[in-house]
Amino acid sequence: MTLAGALDALAATLRFHKDLGVEALPLEGDYLAGPAHALRRQEANLQGCRQCRLCEARNTVVFGSGNPEADLVVIGEGPGADEDAQGLPFVGRAGQLLTKMLASVQLSRDEIYITNAVLCRPPGNRNPEPDELASCAPFLAEKLATIQPKVILSLGSVATQALLRTREPIGKLRGRVHPYGAGVLIPTFHPAFLLRNPGQEYKRMAWEDLKLAKREYDRRRR
Ligand code: SF4
Repeated sequence: MTLAGALDALAATLRFHKDLGVEALPLEGDYLAGPAHALRRQEANLQGCRQCRLCEARNTVVFGSGNPEADLVVIGEGPGADEDAQGLPFVGRAGQLLTKMLASVQLSRDEIYITNAVLCRPPGNRNPEPDELASCAPFLAEKLATIQPKVILSLGSVATQALLRTREPIGKLRGRVHPYGAGVLIPTFHPAFLLRNPGQEYKRMAWEDLKLAKREYDRRRR
């Protein structure tokens, strides 16, 4: 059956129920309930996750925050101490810089969605190991399938390399648009790196990347 035929059949079935006086149907499922409901359900399902060793030292699974129907999703590496304590992504010093970077291209955190490649804090803020990234990857994929962003802004080498499945350094990956699913991925430096390396050249490159992401966002948003 074609999609149009299936929709006609569904409409006829719903009309049939309405004519019988049925006012509401107990329809359930993420697809029918919409992205906000689907994300809440995914977050609830992840509470207490023990699929990798990062569960051992974490306090909170930091799922993500923002607009469930965002056309732009920002993906960092993993939660730090502040994020682990508050249960929200990018709320520490790096998060404050990220907020400023986004504002510099007229993007607010309410308009977009922010998450990380791993959802539990690596001890001592070390990089997540490949097996930890692999354990958490299905949860990120599920989230992206729900939100269906047009543009992904990936922060730093760990998240970018994991998403693009490459070992190329961030310095070579940034500054261009990578096809990603039905949209595009634009890599840039992690704000924590920019805080550690306050050289003007890195800031200028990050600014160029943000302008590129904003251009793609304006061109592709729904
Ligand atoms: S990092 Fe991801 S896979 Fe590992 S325990 Fe946390 S939620 Fe589960």
